Amino acid sequence: MLTLLHNAFLCTGLPGGFYPDGALLIRGSKIIWAGALADLPPQSEPVRRQDVGGRVIIPGLINTHAHGGLSTHRGCCDEGDLFQWAAALAPHTSHLTVEDNRRGCYLAIMEMARNGITTACDCTRYGAGVFASVATEIGMRSLSGALVNSPELRHHGRPNWPLALEETKEAIEAHIGNGLARFYLGGHSPYSCTPALLREVKREADKLDLPFVIHVAENRRENEMVMEQYGQSPTAWLHGLGVLDRRSVLAHCVWVDEADMDILAETGAGVAHNPGSNAKLASGIAPVPALRRLGIPVGLGTDSTLSNNCLDLFQEMKLSVLLQRAASLDGTIVGAGDAFSMATLEGARVLNWETEIGSLEVGKEADLVILDLSHPLGLNPERVHSDLVYHAGPQHVHGVMVAGRMIFEDGRLLTVDEPTIRHAIHEHYRHQ
Ligand SMILES: [Zn+2]
Repeated sequence: MLTLLHNAFLCTGLPGGFYPDGALLIRGSKIIWAGALADLPPQSEPVRRQDVGGRVIIPGLINTHAHGGLSTHRGCCDEGDLFQWAAALAPHTSHLTVEDNRRGCYLAIMEMARNGITTACDCTRYGAGVFASVATEIGMRSLSGALVNSPELRHHGRPNWPLALEETKEAIEAHIGNGLARFYLGGHSPYSCTPALLREVKREADKLDLPFVIHVAENRRENEMVMEQYGQSPTAWLHGLGVLDRRSVLAHCVWVDEADMDILAETGAGVAHNPGSNAKLASGIAPVPALRRLGIPVGLGTDSTLSNNCLDLFQEMKLSVLLQRAASLDGTIVGAGDAFSMATLEGARVLNWETEIGSLEVGKEADLVILDLSHPLGLNPERVHSDLVYHAGPQHVHGVMVAGRMIFEDGRLLTVDEPTIRHAIHEHYRHQ
């Protein structure tokens, strides 16, 4: 049985990919046809027709940086720069158990699914497989794992290497045949991992054919610390260690100079840009226009609910434009099309998943969002782009599909009993 989504304003995420009377034909998890309904060829297989009521269909949003497990502690430390904030929250988060992580992941993934996020790259400290198991239950796609650190450099909490390697291997084993879940190995940052640990983690990632994830050049003080200790910028230091290549996902990259950007372009590493988190933690504004001019893929990330505090890529799209314009005094430096691309296809490139997700085209996975957008002057491609980035929010999300399966519709998650899960989590923490 095929599924035909029709009566849609289809926005494929490809250049010029707007179809005011659009339709999308899906077989199993995949898109087998997309375009104007009038051009749809006759089908020999039975078709289940689903009228989307003139709503807008866009590719599922891709969150390239998150820490879902921390969602239980939303807003527990709202002041201070990165290092002040990290010191203030350590007493709250360093003792968290894998079960706490699981509760946080439920809250984060339910919020992301409601907000039109169909794929997330998630980081934890312990329980490398937890995010993927919860995301799979809810029906969301994930690239997840643990960021390890060296106990002598990061004193709070228990050591997590080689624990993370064992957990990751177990998770890979447990998810064989699950097309929704992918895994990585990562290090927390250049200042919390020794060079020997970073080399070892990257070596194990290569052995297992996994991506490598790390926070890089998030805060100016980080650059000063790495410069004092190793005589190089964090980016150059990591490059010298041999951990940067096209399978590397680098969160933040706020403090990168031209030489650093050349390294990123040369190695093929991707950047997860978190404009809301970077602004809240007084980290600065990543040089996204310069990065993208060099062909470096840049995706958008929410980061955690401790540094953001919501998992909403509509907000990040808007901030990604507004902050650049406010800082550069150039009203054309980035536009809605750039922000939308970063939240979809470019985000997929950052995660090395662009052959399967990021746009609505034949052969790709049917990961999409159905939006209740309307415009007093009527919808056209320009107004849809404009509304997506400057006007829309989670309140406009009507439906979310991942791999051909609706997981959210009309205000309700279809895959899990959200009110019961929320109630149990709130009860658990009520007296803390
Ligand atoms: Zn992070």
